[in-house]
Amino acid sequence: MPRRPLVPLALAFALLLPTATTAQRAPAPREVPAAMREVREADLKRDLYAMASDGMRGREGGTIDELRASIWVAEQYRKIGLAPKGDDGTYFQWFNMVRTRVSTTMSRVMIGGQSFALFTDVTAPGVVPIEAIGAITWLADLADTTVDVRGKIVAAMLPAPNPASIRPNSYPLNVRYVDAAIAAMNARFARRGALAILLVADARTDAAFGPFATMRIRGLYDVDRGVPRFNGGSDRLAPMPQLGQGAPPILLVRASMAATLQAQPTAEIAVRLERFETPCVNVIAELEGTDAKLRNEYVLYSSHQDANGTRYVIDGDSVWAGADDNGSVSVAQFAAARAFVKKPGKRSVLFVHHGSEERGLIGSRWHAAHPVVPIAQIVAVINGDMIGRNHPDSASLLGAQPPHRNSPEFVAMALKANALTGKFTLDSLWDRPTHPEGWYFRSDHVPYARVGVPSLMWTTNLHDDYHTPKDNPQRIDYPKLTRMAQWMYLTGWFVANADKRPALDPAFKLER
Ligand SMILES: [Zn+2]
Repeated sequence: MPRRPLVPLALAFALLLPTATTAQRAPAPREVPAAMREVREADLKRDLYAMASDGMRGREGGTIDELRASIWVAEQYRKIGLAPKGDDGTYFQWFNMVRTRVSTTMSRVMIGGQSFALFTDVTAPGVVPIEAIGAITWLADLADTTVDVRGKIVAAMLPAPNPASIRPNSYPLNVRYVDAAIAAMNARFARRGALAILLVADARTDAAFGPFATMRIRGLYDVDRGVPRFNGGSDRLAPMPQLGQGAPPILLVRASMAATLQAQPTAEIAVRLERFETPCVNVIAELEGTDAKLRNEYVLYSSHQDANGTRYVIDGDSVWAGADDNGSVSVAQFAAARAFVKKPGKRSVLFVHHGSEERGLIGSRWHAAHPVVPIAQIVAVINGDMIGRNHPDSASLLGAQPPHRNSPEFVAMALKANALTGKFTLDSLWDRPTHPEGWYFRSDHVPYARVGVPSLMWTTNLHDDYHTPKDNPQRIDYPKLTRMAQWMYLTGWFVANADKRPALDPAFKLER
């Protein structure tokens, strides 16, 4: 993953500025309320160690672990003194996540009279049904696309992908290698009418077989009647065409199967899909504003309480604890809530923790379509995702530049708040449409931006522990997290008290 060489520039910048410690000792400017003292490093640390503890089991969306974490989040707001704003006088807004996946109970793969277990011996890269019985045809030369494979079960070695096609994103390199190899085969076999395509893993794919299966066994996630994540439709179809409808019926098999398949035995393959719904929850708390008129308008703080559950073990740990992602912003919201309780603003404030963000922004897509207050009364979304890692003086504000910027006035408030708090050097690369991670599109502000709410995302960007069991509370930079939390709090304070709500840029249009 290309990264900007942050250290030299940021260090040079740090020399020119007072450190955070001296800034805190200096008298606070008039615009900074004394209540900002409620944003305390000790509270952030205590809360994060609790939220990202092993006992929370990685808070996976759509599981009992997300519900446990959500109850804990709601309990924090009750203690802080915020009113519930979810369903029926509770802190919880319920919705159903839709899952479509290959059924391991209804599917079976028999080759040469022997049974093979799905996602252990054989992996389905796509969520595509397969029904095939017959003799296997071995394809010695895959490059010959004139071979008629219609109505046949074919098998071949999986070729290594073109290195340039391996996406430079944050997933483990060996998994990205397999992704690229399978994507090339999807293209090669598209619309050629094979009944089933068995691809024998090369050594590198075989080494990544387990982690690849762990990713693909989960299938696809969506929410009905939510705001679409991308232009033009549902998550089941749009962003991952290689997984969903229309993908060729590919199965990846272990390297050790090569000789068996070359003997062209008969096969009986039934890959069947299952679709079901599972309850998820947004946690929503409210602090009412002081102004009789403006209290009908809302500043919305946004985080997600879910993480990635328990998965494969790295260094003896199976809990993907999600301390930075996104315990860091969740606890920053508690701190902002304490400051707002101490001194409420003119406008009201909603503190929202979205469920199942990691499964495709499910909770925010739901709430942006079914908000607890009319969407026109939400004046700004202050979303954060991962704010406690990387260089102490570097951060990003996504939605600060075109085409992602939807309110220059809101951006100006955020920049002013940065100058009065964290004084971060802002890295603008991650907000660009050309950034390989597409970082802007990967958090909960996006559905709100799509429905016309001024929206920004605070982040300190990716790191090597992202989506691994190593994203734990011991690795967080707490002084940095405190400055980020102060910055987000003060931005919300400015929005809550501005004479005019930040205007939406009428020309705003996302590139995807
Ligand atoms: Zn996240």
